[in-house]
Amino acid sequence: MLTKEQIEERKEAIKATVTVPDILSRYGVRIKRGRCKAICHDGKNYTAKVSDELYYCFKCNRSMDIFDIEMHFNNCDFWTAFELLGGTEKPSFSATRKAKSAQKERQERINKQKKINLELRQIRMYIDAYRNIIADEEPLSDLWCYCQNKLQYQLYLLDYYIGKR
Ligand SMILES: [Zn+2]
Repeated sequence: MLTKEQIEERKEAIKATVTVPDILSRYGVRIKRGRCKAICHDGKNYTAKVSDELYYCFKCNRSMDIFDIEMHFNNCDFWTAFELLGGTEKPSFSATRKAKSAQKERQERINKQKKINLELRQIRMYIDAYRNIIADEEPLSDLWCYCQNKLQYQLYLLDYYIGKR
């Protein structure tokens, strides 16, 4: 076991060799002119400032060092992050495994979200199309009825997918 002092020492040693931009790019986060998209709140804008030492989000006032970032992406505790960053001689099997499964989960979540967003976009397109036809058609004509039916179904789907989001 490492003592508190040894851990602090190693933390400093790791920080001396690994920078915040290093860690961020490991996880595919792009840095533009010292800024990146906010990973803390999954933001789309470049609201976070990045220096070698720290990541800082202007929107949530959250600052993170390399260990916090490692914890964030692997959804793990400090010790696991410490191991992953080489705090102990070699990452233990369980640290690697935990990190891998957390990354997989994260990817699956993102994929699922993408799929739902795609479905939603398609449903909204159908809804617009049916509404346009309904507006143009003679009420109670065959096509009008057909589109009313289809529209109800798409509205139902919209509700369903929004609920899932
Ligand atoms: Zn934030």
